[in-house]
Amino acid sequence: MHLPTFRFRQQLEFLHGFKNEFNLKANPLDESDLEHKEKDKHLYCKACNNKITNENQKIAMGGKIENTFFNPHGNLFQVCCFKEAQGCHIVGVSSSEFSWFPGYSWQIVNCLCCQNHLGWLFSKGLKTYFFGLIITRLKQK
Ligand SMILES: [Zn+2]
Repeated sequence: MHLPTFRFRQQLEFLHGFKNEFNLKANPLDESDLEHKEKDKHLYCKACNNKITNENQKIAMGGKIENTFFNPHGNLFQVCCFKEAQGCHIVGVSSSEFSWFPGYSWQIVNCLCCQNHLGWLFSKGLKTYFFGLIITRLKQK
C-alpha cells in the first residue's frame, strides 16, 4: 500500500516545483520593477516646471554624457546629451558653424512652454540627432 504515499510525494513535488517556479518568476519581476522606478526620473525646466526629458534618455556623445563647452562669445556651458527631449521647441535654421560635435549641425532649442533657452539639437542628416541641454537650466522634481 505505497500508492497513497507515492501520490502524496508527487503532490508535494508538484507544489514545491510550482512554488519554485513562482519564486523564480517573482524575483526578476521585482528587480525590473525597481530598475524601472530608478530610471523613471523626469527632468523639468527650471524656469516654468515644464517636463522636458527623462534621465533614462541620457546618452554619451564624444565619450561623455556631460560635456563642458565654450561658445564663440566665451560663455561656458555644461551640456548633457539626451536621445529625446519632448518638452523642447526647436527654433531657427540649423548651422554647422562652431559645432561642438564634429559632423553635427546645431539648432537652438527652447522650452516649449516658457521659451527659455535650454540648449541645442544636434543633427546629422534627417534621422541622426540628439539634444544637448544645459544642465543648470533643468531640475528634478
Ligand atoms: Zn520653461
